[in-house]
Order: sequence, then C-alpha cells, then structure tokens
Amino acid sequence: MVVVLENNISEEQINEIVKQLEDFGFQIHKSTGVQKTILGAIGVKPNFDTRKVKILKGVADVYRVTAPYKLASRSFHEHDSIIKIKDVEIGGNNIALMIGPCSVESEEQIFTLAEIVADSGAKILRGGAFKPRSSPYSFQGMGEEGLKIMRQAADKYGLLVITEVMENSQIDLISKYTDIFQVGARNMQNFSLIKELGNSQIPVMLKRGLSATIEEWLMSAEYILANGNKNVMLCERGIRTFETYTRNTFDLSAIPVIHKKSHLPVVADPSHATGLRDQVAPMARAAVAAGADALMIEIHNDPANALSDGPQALLPSDYLTLVGELKLIAQAIGRTIN
Ligand code: PEP
Ligand code: MN
Repeated sequence: MVVVLENNISEEQINEIVKQLEDFGFQIHKSTGVQKTILGAIGVKPNFDTRKVKILKGVADVYRVTAPYKLASRSFHEHDSIIKIKDVEIGGNNIALMIGPCSVESEEQIFTLAEIVADSGAKILRGGAFKPRSSPYSFQGMGEEGLKIMRQAADKYGLLVITEVMENSQIDLISKYTDIFQVGARNMQNFSLIKELGNSQIPVMLKRGLSATIEEWLMSAEYILANGNKNVMLCERGIRTFETYTRNTFDLSAIPVIHKKSHLPVVADPSHATGLRDQVAPMARAAVAAGADALMIEIHNDPANALSDGPQALLPSDYLTLVGELKLIAQAIGRTIN
C-alpha cells in the first residue's frame, strides 16, 4: 500500500501516522520529497480495509498495490487454469463453444438444437430451465422437466450441459443433470449461492454482474475458490453504461485484463451483451480475437416464437456460418475451435 501524505505536514504528524501504520502490522518505508512525503506500507493483508488509513489526519491518498483476491490471482497460480470436464477442456488452446437456446422450451426444440450444436463441432449445450426474468409475467422456465430433457438431448449427441442455478435450494437438483453451473449476472454477488457452489466440485461459470467492476467479479470468483471449488470460469456478458444505442456495453477489454490478473478461463457471451441478432456475430468474432477461452451463444430454430430472448438468437444457418469465421480468426491467433 502506498500512503501519500498531505503537503507540508509536521514531522510529528508523520511520526504519528507511521506509528499507527506499524500498529496495524505494516513495515514502513518513508520517502521524503520537497513537498510530499510518501510512505510505502509492506505486508497488507487481503482483507485490510484501506479506509482505516484514508481517514487518518494528514493522509492525502492511499493506493493498494496488491489485489484483494488471492486464489484467483495470476501471482498465486502462474499458469492458465484449464478446466477439464470429460473430454472437454476450457482454458487451453482450444476455444470451447457453449451453444443452445436461452430457455429449454420443449423436447422437440432442445433435441433439434442439440443436433445442430453437435454437428457444428461444439461440445457444450446451453439452456435455462430456471430463468431469471426481469418481469414476473415472463416465462420462468420448465424447471426439472427442462433439466431432464436437456440432459437426454446432450447425452444423445455427446454434449456437456451448462444451465443456470438461481438459488441455493436448486443446487442439489441441478447437480443431478448439469456438467457446469451457470451463475447469472444478477446473482454474481449472491454470496450465499456462490459460497455453497464453492462446496460443490461441479465447475461454475460466473457471469459478470450488470454493473460489477472486474475486481468485484474476481472477488466473487474468490468466494467459490476459497470454499474449495477450483473449477471456476468467468463470463463477460456486457455491463451497464451510459450508452443507449446498445443494450449493454460488451467489455471485451475485460478479457486481456482478466488474463493478466487471473489464471481463470474467460468465456464471452455476445448474445446477452448485445441483445440483438445482427450484433452477435461481429461481437463473437471480436471476442475470439480478444482472447476469449470460450464463447456462449444463443441459437433458436424458430426465434420469432422463442419463449425468451428470441431477438438475440441466431438462426442455425447463420450460426454455422459464424463458426466457420470464428475458426479462421482462432487460427490467425494460433488457437483452434474443434
Ligand atoms: C442467460 O444466459 O440466459 C442469462 C439470463 O444470462 P445473464 O445472466 O447474462 O443475463
Ligand atoms: Mn438468454
């Protein structure tokens, strides 16, 4: 931690601040300039509240130099984490595809789409059975029936399943059917949910909260890791900004930032980031170029009649064209999509 002191404070005041910092357990290195004195405080604990220093008389500014997360950080784990689920890897050189409808709607729909997903070479089927909807009057998902048919469709076509868990009481049930838990944007800071998912060994994909900073997002990942589940991946799905011409701002710069700060794989979701079909393919291409380790994309065979997120669902034919383009972009940056 770097503590910048106010201009022209007395030696006595400086000594008082130094003493207080030492009482907090820090080792202090002082550097004195013409006007400013700066204190380097070594030994900051991850949970230290820097406001305790900010409020000291004579302190102008405080900067943390170590991250408040540990298990999620690149300094704790130097190499990229690779999450292995059966024969699928997320976080290695190959870019994984998580494809499917927003919601599981019927047996016919999910089997039709699962076949398209498998034919495209993707390995992971997405679909929600418990849906977080902005309106209580919107379709809320098929529940366990949806999980059952999704599992059957995935097994028939040799796919993994990723589906959303919205609350603690659903964990045991969803565990029976899924290979990856999805934590939705609205639940990124549902601490009781993410703590309990830390007790599971099923991998978790943690979506970025609607207005979460990258640090807050990594701190939520830290909850899952600290509770014992090492299989965590992050998913950028767009954040709220002042822009009104787009649904969300797809923060692709988060991808290289996370890769620098953390060893965890990063998934990119251009579907929820943009909310409109015509923006999904360009942003999917950009996400691969930016270094995403996996993509989550919504598709539908009849988007006009989809029970949720129809306007952002790609038609199967457009999706298949996109996969061909993504492979070329992956190849250009030394990666693969198989
Ligand atoms: C979803 O994946 O269907 C979903 C609801 O995503 P998000 O939490 O990103 O809105
Ligand atoms: Mn959706």
